[in-house]
Amino acid sequence: MIELAIKKSGLAKLREGLPYLLKEDFFEQLPKAGTSILIVDSQKTYYGYIGKGHKADIAIISQPFDSSYFQTRINLALKKRLTDFSPLPEAYRLIHNEADAIPGLTIEIFQLFAVVTYYNQGIIKFEQDIIAALTETTKLEGVYAKYRLPGEERPLQVIWGKAAPEQLVVTESTGKYIVKLNDGLMNGLFLDQRANRIWLAQNALNKDICNTFSYTGALSIACATGNAKSTCSVDLSAPYSHWCEENIQLNHFDAHKHTTIVSDTLGHFEYCRRNQIKYDQIILDPPTFAKKKGGSFSVAVNYQDLISASLPLLRIHGELVCSTNYSQWTASEFQALIPSTAKKYGYTLQCIYTASADKDFPIHPHWPESDHLKFAVFQLQ
Ligand code: SAH
Repeated sequence: MIELAIKKSGLAKLREGLPYLLKEDFFEQLPKAGTSILIVDSQKTYYGYIGKGHKADIAIISQPFDSSYFQTRINLALKKRLTDFSPLPEAYRLIHNEADAIPGLTIEIFQLFAVVTYYNQGIIKFEQDIIAALTETTKLEGVYAKYRLPGEERPLQVIWGKAAPEQLVVTESTGKYIVKLNDGLMNGLFLDQRANRIWLAQNALNKDICNTFSYTGALSIACATGNAKSTCSVDLSAPYSHWCEENIQLNHFDAHKHTTIVSDTLGHFEYCRRNQIKYDQIILDPPTFAKKKGGSFSVAVNYQDLISASLPLLRIHGELVCSTNYSQWTASEFQALIPSTAKKYGYTLQCIYTASADKDFPIHPHWPESDHLKFAVFQLQ
């Protein structure tokens, strides 16, 4: 354990309860990733480890990492999920980074398989302790590691036990979803949208719904389970559209009513405008940034274009379901942007529902980024 001298800027962050520090907060050069450190303030001693990740260089923890630290935290996190859900979902996030007191780490469970994601170099040094604690706490057949490290690409790896079958089927109250854990960083199901899928299922009855940026169609499946009249899933990627069709088939939905389109979202909206196709609900859940033919899409620049292009396609009292992970907007900024954009184009929208991620994605009180998902539904007045 190395004691580090900290600048005033860093001390202020520690006293505020922030879970991360930058190298600029220290006088000396930082030791190598994975080194345990301590910082002594006049009233308190803080512990941490050198991480060297995307968002920070040092992560702060309540006591030095050792095997019992991971055991205690994973146990507590599981207890919290068991209290928050009954029954526990088949797929859930067990550790949500700093909000579950293990900054730099997420763990997701998909039935008998776990996916551990490392967000910095330092946490990888504790892999054996993490695996031991995880396999003792939950019944598992295999553990995967994903690496989200700055400046370094590593392939997905099985680090304990065996690989999952090519496809798992995860069942939620809103439908069955195909998950492919061997497929790399994207496995087909976003766990943070689980509660929002429930909202969509409960509000879909008899609606014609256009789900844009549909990915594997999880939100469309939820709508179809809620007896939507039709769903149209629009995605630029042919393989993801095909995966969406597999999900539609798996759930035995009528493929004539529940269709997929491989298209750019704005291109599809233009097609609808020319052909006077209208919807009762349009879902907008774009990635923060994506390349497309002849340019790129970025939430910061183009979300307003999505809103203005979708409004003329809504029927009377139609709904706009808006979702984003963009970390530079707070939930209230996002919720204000949508009706104010609509107003510019002569439409009035009323907010009828807002939410963030499901309960297995807790929020750290001093780290707003842990509240990553913004979900809001608006009705045309
Ligand atoms: N709403 C989905 C997740 C969306 S992920 C869910 O909850 O499951 C983002 C998706 O947007 C990816 O599948 C990607 O292929 C798609 N995409 C990116 N740019 C696009 C564009 N311009 N038009 C349509 N789809 C796009």
